Amino acid sequence: MNKDTYTNFIRNQINDDLDSGVHNSIQMRFPPEPNGYLHIGHAKSICLNFGLAKDYKGQCNLRFDDTNPAKEDIEFIDAIKADIKWLGFVWDGDIKYSSHYFDQFYECAIELINKNLAYVCFLDSDETRAYRGTLKEAGKNSPYRDTSIAENLELLAKMKAGKFSEGECVLRAKIDMNSSFMCMRDPTLYRIRFDKHHQTGNQWRIYPMYDFAHCIGDAIEGITHSLCTLEFQDNRRLYDWILENLNDFNKPSRPHQYEFSRLNLEYTVMSKRKLQKLVEDGLVSGWDDPRMPTLSGLRRRGYTATSIHDFTNRIGISKVDSMTDMAILEAAIRDDLNIKAPRTMGVINPIRVIIENYPKGKIETLKALIHPQNEAMGKRDIFFSGELYIDRADFKEVVPNKKFKRLAINKEVRLRSAYVINATTFDTDFDGNITTVYATYDPDTLGKNPEDGRKVKGVIHFVEATKALKAEFRLYNRLFTLENPGKNDHFEQLFNPQSLVTTYGVVEPNMASSKPEFAYQFEREGYFCRDKNSQVLTFNKTVNLRDIWNN
Ligand code: ATP
Ligand code: MG
Repeated sequence: MNKDTYTNFIRNQINDDLDSGVHNSIQMRFPPEPNGYLHIGHAKSICLNFGLAKDYKGQCNLRFDDTNPAKEDIEFIDAIKADIKWLGFVWDGDIKYSSHYFDQFYECAIELINKNLAYVCFLDSDETRAYRGTLKEAGKNSPYRDTSIAENLELLAKMKAGKFSEGECVLRAKIDMNSSFMCMRDPTLYRIRFDKHHQTGNQWRIYPMYDFAHCIGDAIEGITHSLCTLEFQDNRRLYDWILENLNDFNKPSRPHQYEFSRLNLEYTVMSKRKLQKLVEDGLVSGWDDPRMPTLSGLRRRGYTATSIHDFTNRIGISKVDSMTDMAILEAAIRDDLNIKAPRTMGVINPIRVIIENYPKGKIETLKALIHPQNEAMGKRDIFFSGELYIDRADFKEVVPNKKFKRLAINKEVRLRSAYVINATTFDTDFDGNITTVYATYDPDTLGKNPEDGRKVKGVIHFVEATKALKAEFRLYNRLFTLENPGKNDHFEQLFNPQSLVTTYGVVEPNMASSKPEFAYQFEREGYFCRDKNSQVLTFNKTVNLRDIWNN
């Protein structure tokens, strides 16, 4: 979208800052913590940050916010890079890592101690909590608050050298234990961790907290507008306090933080920690399970980058927390695939049809449009013979109601891109399930209506039997049974056991060359995309042809 035709509070802020000359251009960043795969919520942030940089001819960094060695992994770094590229964005310059600034963070900590603004505290976590007070009750000063500057410098050096055990002490900012913002009651800046870090190995025994590292990382990179989600609204005070107390960074052009509402999607969860739990508990097959709201899951399911961009435009940017209807995401992919996806036929729950008056052994090649609204996409070969498959739902012994426009005994129907057929009789198995329908075809109805004026209203899809390819279809329902599962402590118990339903059927032979991450429309059934991992021909259902949830 063009910056002149579309605005929001962040764009207004940028416009003001450029007009007043505080900044000459903008420098954005996307700062994922590499502790999981990116989800659609991150896509909102990516499209916002990279999108603003593009619109304003500024720059956007990719910075891995890797300050917690316990939870991070190189696998996640690679996956995050791939997802950003897939969305079509390119970060400016080299990839940045918060861990590359560990020396500078440490220097900043020393500067704060020297200004009598930080101290090493030995309260244990229960004591720290008790001293912190509550929203209604002021906190109490830590007994370590008045340790001398010289001693604090020594203690921090010892922390760094690994002389204390994990949890024995922390470095805290000296701010205000009476502040109405809890985050300002002497927050922790550094803690001791003995885990090996994926970038710095065992070099560091102390790691900066997010609040300390983030603002300084922003300032080092010359970030102008540091965008984050609303939970960090209070922490903005701390962000400002830290930068205003560091000589190198306390200037008008220093970064400022702005908060927008995070994306929450109905019937799914959106935090990496919760998504990881689904993976660990084996409820899904992995981070890229097509049911997951991860970008890798959506991609495997058949979502396009275009549809994700479109979705983020549709939901916009605001400061109001809300739940977004899954229908908005589904409408975005449906609208994209409606234009792009080649049409084909697949029978998801097949029954056999024998055309009794069709010449034995003959197979006809017919032409069908690849896209009915776009003839330029060309035609494909489909086949017709005396043995076909249609979907179980498209045949009834007797017409159940007036709306039924499919095949029934003595009721004609058109087979898509082929002939009109009429059912005569059928076979069942021992349980009474229909196995084969016997029918006749009208050879005079290829590409035209019956000449005697008979009206044939219904059109159903089919696949010729001898050339059909067997296929597995994975049909997806909502991942959870409740609209907002994340609110529940045991959200995993709300997992929908019907979230994946597998059926076995047939597809047109040309689907042998179908590629993963490229969706087709199986006519009358929905959009599907070939799965990347499966040995047999397997199709993931991307989305229904129509919104069936909100009816
Ligand atoms: P999660 O709980 O999923 O781990 P996070 O905020 O901890 O989320 P980060 O890796 O720290 O994840 O996030 C990188 C960036 O993406 C941050 O700037 C964050 O604000 C943004 N982000 C994360 N989740 C969402 C969301 N649901 N909607 C919009 N932006 C998000
Ligand atoms: Mg996080």
